[in-house]
Amino acid sequence: MHVKEIVSDVLIIGGGPAGSIAAASLAKKGYTVNVVEKTPFPRFVIGESLLPRCNELLEMNGMLETIDKHGFMVKRGACFEMDGVRETYNFSENIGQVHGTSYQVKREEFDDLLLKQAVAFGSTLYEETEITAFDPETTTATGRDKEGNSLRFKASFALDASGYGRVFPRLLGLDEPSDLKVRSAVFTRITGDIRPKDETEGYIYIYVHGNNDAWIWVIPFSDGVTSVGVVCSEEYFSTFGLENEPFWDMIITSTPGAAERLANATKILPVGKIEGYSANVKSMVGKNYCMAGNATEFLDPVFSSGVTLALESGNRAALLIDRTLKGEAVDWENEYAAYMMKGINVFREFVSAWYDGRLQSIFTVTEKPEKIKRAVSSILGGYVWDDRNIFVKNPRSAMAAVLSQITPTSSTI
Ligand SMILES: Cc1cc2nc3c(=O)[nH]c(=O)nc-3n(C[C@H](O)[C@H](O)[C@H](O)COP(=O)(O)OP(=O)(O)OC[C@H]3O[C@@H](n4cnc5c(N)ncnc54)[C@H](O)[C@@H]3O)c2cc1C
Repeated sequence: MHVKEIVSDVLIIGGGPAGSIAAASLAKKGYTVNVVEKTPFPRFVIGESLLPRCNELLEMNGMLETIDKHGFMVKRGACFEMDGVRETYNFSENIGQVHGTSYQVKREEFDDLLLKQAVAFGSTLYEETEITAFDPETTTATGRDKEGNSLRFKASFALDASGYGRVFPRLLGLDEPSDLKVRSAVFTRITGDIRPKDETEGYIYIYVHGNNDAWIWVIPFSDGVTSVGVVCSEEYFSTFGLENEPFWDMIITSTPGAAERLANATKILPVGKIEGYSANVKSMVGKNYCMAGNATEFLDPVFSSGVTLALESGNRAALLIDRTLKGEAVDWENEYAAYMMKGINVFREFVSAWYDGRLQSIFTVTEKPEKIKRAVSSILGGYVWDDRNIFVKNPRSAMAAVLSQITPTSSTI
């Protein structure tokens, strides 16, 4: 059987945020870029709350204007409710970063806009085509389009941005289990929530359930629809022996802040569930290939870091691919993998501190030095590479130092 061979400078597997930003960046530099995407767009994917660092990365690649114009809900911060305390972070109250807002986005719309921009900048999109094999020796991937035709994509460099598809980790034996506990998210979209009437209207609200047994995200969109998800350990979910919808109902109605906000809500989608979403890789890079976004490591949804890390890694990969293709020496382990791990590890410490209660201890102390609030706000804004921030330099010891500095106070909402 004849297999059509398609040659380009760069092959990108996956048209999510990581793939689109890399494609846009490289196409603008004049490279031939093939983007191969399995799922027909627009397509749903979970992960709807962005961070200000996303806006900065999109701006750097000429992709922000379209997003600004679309009418997404402006997200100015994050609000955490726990133990009768409300802790609010306004992203503009940071340690000096320029972007102090972001967006709440329906990913089917956001990702579609980004992919279209990547094409407008000159990338070629192979829609509804699934990559099924990859030969790292020749940087050649094999795929199948929706008519069942086999296609062979040969490139000078290949980027795996296949997200939950995890193409290279699976095909090259690079998958590694995450060191985080197995958690599940049970989620839907609703209308009719009672939104705050102040500047926190567009904020993400996080409500802690019970004794830190679960938490709830409430992400408001600009069309009146709101995304609501419950996150807990798989163990906790199983104790109740409930199906997704009654479990979601039970958690919402028994969590005071969320119950109030969602008292008149109507579900507009079936309640779905994703479990065991955390993932890791043995290595992010190889000879003439690398991985970006969720195809590398995914931690946890609690600080909405996924799209930020996807855009950061897609952008970084594109800059290094450019240098590699120009024949410059690039230390991929150091300049790419170690760089990405630095930011991921800051989020990792925040995620661990959220679940083991250290961060909640900081949050529930209402009278905190402004310096600490701003440092936390910057991290929550996705600025996890800025060495001016104490949490970036050494996240573990900074967390301990902050905890020892502040004394618990009680305050109620
Ligand atoms: C419960 C939960 C809640 C989350 N909430 C947030 C949040 O609020 N904010 C946030 O920033 N992040 C959140 N995330 C994370 C977010 O979903 C991801 O980090 C983000 O989508 C990663 O982007 P990506 O570009 O790497 O991959 P994706 O967006 O998954 O895109 C990958 C693309 O690759 C395509 N693909 C897969 N396999 C193949 C193949 N074999 N061939 C061709 N194409 C292929 C897919 O169809 C897909 O379109 C959440 C995650 C979970 C699990």
